[in-house]
Amino acid sequence: MTHTPSPSPPADLHVDVAVIGGGPVGLAAAAYAARVGLTAVVVEPRAGTIDKACGEGLMPGGLQALADLGVDPPGHDLRGIRYLARGRVAEADFSGGLGRGVRRTVLHDALRRAVDDAGVEVLQLSAAGVTQDERSVLVRTEDSSGPGPTVSAAWAIAADGLHSPTRRCLGLYREPRTRGADGDQRLAGRYGLRQHYGTRPWGDHVEVHWSRHAEAYVTPVADDLVGVAVLSRQRGPLDDSLADFPHLRERLGDASVVTSVRGAGPLRQRTSRRVAGRVLLAGDASGYVDALTGEGISLGLAHARAAVSAVAAGEPDAYERAWRAATRRYALLTHTLVQVTRPSWGRRLLVPAAAALPPVFRGAVNELARPNP
Ligand SMILES: Cc1cc2nc3c(=O)[nH]c(=O)nc-3n(C[C@H](O)[C@H](O)[C@H](O)COP(=O)(O)OP(=O)(O)OC[C@H]3O[C@@H](n4cnc5c(N)ncnc54)[C@H](O)[C@@H]3O)c2cc1C
Repeated sequence: MTHTPSPSPPADLHVDVAVIGGGPVGLAAAAYAARVGLTAVVVEPRAGTIDKACGEGLMPGGLQALADLGVDPPGHDLRGIRYLARGRVAEADFSGGLGRGVRRTVLHDALRRAVDDAGVEVLQLSAAGVTQDERSVLVRTEDSSGPGPTVSAAWAIAADGLHSPTRRCLGLYREPRTRGADGDQRLAGRYGLRQHYGTRPWGDHVEVHWSRHAEAYVTPVADDLVGVAVLSRQRGPLDDSLADFPHLRERLGDASVVTSVRGAGPLRQRTSRRVAGRVLLAGDASGYVDALTGEGISLGLAHARAAVSAVAAGEPDAYERAWRAATRRYALLTHTLVQVTRPSWGRRLLVPAAAALPPVFRGAVNELARPNP
């Protein structure tokens, strides 16, 4: 996190909704709040345009949610998903419209403009703690120079990312576990790395290349820019991981590397509940399965919308139900895919099976692509 000291701490603020985290989900929550007439403030420590490790593929449903907020970031149209392994290819197009590859920086600027236009203030501060009573939430803030103002709000929406400090502070974090053959066992975490290459995209699909230990997914994000994200249980330099993908390396040729490597993980994050009194968790902060199905932003936008409707109605528990409804399909498909491809035989068989059963592959891709409820 980058901290820039504020010259003098402003006076304490009172709003309807304090949004913790100014990533895509926090910014969308602030824009939704403003749209229904709630006053909001966003607390985000990082200055300027925010970049992040991400595959940068927006599913058609996510793109529609952005359009609904009046946000239309430029990028590269995506027609569907293509899986590749050892010369086998399985491909499925989105049936309900196009997706779009969008650089995170471009997405951030577009959402930030929507928030600014809605008159919502973004404070360059970290949330340092949350306390609440029956009527309000107090968000303490800080920056590198010390404590900042306290934000008093009727509700807080915490969208502070994969390692959400708010989730921990509220005791909503759960250890990632799964049931193995011999009872509960801890899973080795998966991690993601990404980098961009200055080259003309060679297709209109998100390509997922499968190797023995990793997946490399390739998203065209502009006419001259392609992002590559590698997901794996093994941690090491991106170049080492890419050595496992000779076909992809060949495709990239001598394209220049135009961004530095960014990473994230462990990806799997669990929560016991999404609502604690007047605080609602949204986006990655509310739990995350894996980046393999590229749905995090679309899902987070659905969380943001549902969280705002719940607080506008004064019914936070409705959010828990809406969160489950929005997340169930994604979590099931992603968890299944991650589990099936854990053993080496599963990884070997996946792409041939997807190629042999086009309706099944198409069905799975379109389950992920359709708008969230
Ligand atoms: C390798 C990889 C590939 C991915 N590929 C895709 C993809 O292709 N498509 C897709 O849709 N999703 C993808 N995802 C998932 C996607 O990146 C996330 O789901 C999305 O960024 C979630 O947004 P968010 O706003 O919840 O969290 P974030 O984007 O992480 O934003 C959280 C914000 O909270 C701020 N914050 C942290 N602590 C505090 C604090 N104490 N106080 C205030 N603010 C704080 C942070 O500075 C940050 O700006 C991928 C993820 C990874 C790791």
